[in-house]
Amino acid sequence: MSKKINRLFLACFIISACFMHACKKIETTEISDTETSTYTSFSLTETTSTKTSSSETALSESTTASTALTSPQISSSTQKQTSKSSVETSDTSGTTQATVDLSLPENGEIDHEWALFLVNQNNPLPQDYSIETKTVYESYMKFKMDSRIADYMIQMISDAKKDGISLIICSAYRSYEKQKSIFDSDVKSYQAQGYSYEDAYAMTSKNVAIPGQSEHATGLAADILSDECPTLSEKFENTKAFAWLNENAYKYGFILRYPKEKTDITGINYEPWHYRFVGLYHAKKIKDSGLCLEEYMEQQKTNQ
Ligand SMILES: [Zn+2]
Repeated sequence: MSKKINRLFLACFIISACFMHACKKIETTEISDTETSTYTSFSLTETTSTKTSSSETALSESTTASTALTSPQISSSTQKQTSKSSVETSDTSGTTQATVDLSLPENGEIDHEWALFLVNQNNPLPQDYSIETKTVYESYMKFKMDSRIADYMIQMISDAKKDGISLIICSAYRSYEKQKSIFDSDVKSYQAQGYSYEDAYAMTSKNVAIPGQSEHATGLAADILSDECPTLSEKFENTKAFAWLNENAYKYGFILRYPKEKTDITGINYEPWHYRFVGLYHAKKIKDSGLCLEEYMEQQKTNQ
């Protein structure tokens, strides 16, 4: 009998230790910004999905749309715009809920037009870009997004759950300052190892997004995983959650931002977990066209 109790106790201890370890991994993932640094930090086995290096990015620039259709400055001036969603409950319950109208405006108007802008190597966000945020998901911490679109994420998570899919948010809004402090701290640690500032900067930029160039700073992007694959791995594409997102994310205004076949244009390797809000109208157009955001923006410019 006492042997059984001992075994039970040991099993509980192992499970607790595994859980703590997993939490630590996810937490550091959030703090360290880019998907790459997750792999760098923990040497996970699924390391095929790293961000491209600066030199690779430079190669892709010739095919990358270089001008944002709507500048972030313009969009930030409209940030008082309210979402047409109606919020029912709160950030603190752990079951944040909202009800949003997922239908397109009948008068042909484009919803959330301000949300269509590029943030990439050629189109950094201004340093003073600021938004109001709202919690979209809670686990060991509160994950926030732009309050104007947060309810669409909340609704998507809620509807997925009704279909038996538990989506896990592991990263959402990160401010410019937070990104900068992560970046600067990495540069300093390389310098402490004897590298020059230039070398330290170049090495850091391979693993951590340069401040202003991370889409997470817009408050419009989130990294989404599930129980089936709770790490930032390309294997996420084989999950039911990914299939669900592939089928449904556009209905909530989200697109898969860095598709597998568009890495030479986005300058970012395939990220099946990274979703970006562009509004219901544009998300459907992008989904139907098969274009990535850079291509779509270019097409919009030429159609004007
Ligand atoms: Zn991401």
